[in-house]
Amino acid sequence: MLRVIFGLGSNLGDRAANIAKAIRLLDESAGLKITQVSSLYESAPVDFLDQPDFVNAAAAAETDLRPEDLLAAAQRIELEMGRVKTTDKGPRVIDVDILLYDIVEVRLPDLQVPHPRLRQRAFALVPLLEVAADAIFPTGEPVRWAIKGVDIDSVRLFSKEVASGEVASSPKGQASRNDGTTR
Ligand code: AMP
Repeated sequence: MLRVIFGLGSNLGDRAANIAKAIRLLDESAGLKITQVSSLYESAPVDFLDQPDFVNAAAAAETDLRPEDLLAAAQRIELEMGRVKTTDKGPRVIDVDILLYDIVEVRLPDLQVPHPRLRQRAFALVPLLEVAADAIFPTGEPVRWAIKGVDIDSVRLFSKEVASGEVASSPKGQASRNDGTTR
């Protein structure tokens, strides 16, 4: 089994509920088991600035799926949840990114892991390190070192938990909520 870390973001509708639902749908996907879920964090948009603030989280999962199958699962969930591509980098009900695929580097035309912008994004690094403080890049560099290069003050705690009941109600029921002791 490999450990994959997903990054999730939402800035439309009930952002916390959207993230909780996406995590539940990931957990229900064949070949994927969510093992840990971060707190929720809120931050201002970075690329396209004229849009609502985002809520972000990270989820760790065990998987035996290939990276391209994980991308397909993530994109299926985005579609299922009604994500409509309007502006590139614009508002979205849900965004599901693959931040890390164990210590493996993936370079495919439509999939790069580690996520190409992970090192520059406090809103991805902060929740990631909450669920995988020991994570390392394929280069061997600890991911926690990257936090020095970002503005962590741009990210504020939104909620310690994903919306109550969402993940725990998964049929597999194996996801544990983070109790915040790692931060
Ligand atoms: P986004 O607008 O952030 O959802 O970008 C989605 C696009 O990024 C898709 O076309 C994916 O093929 C591509 N992509 C490349 N690397 C990744 C990754 N690590 N996780 C998710 N999407 C990725």
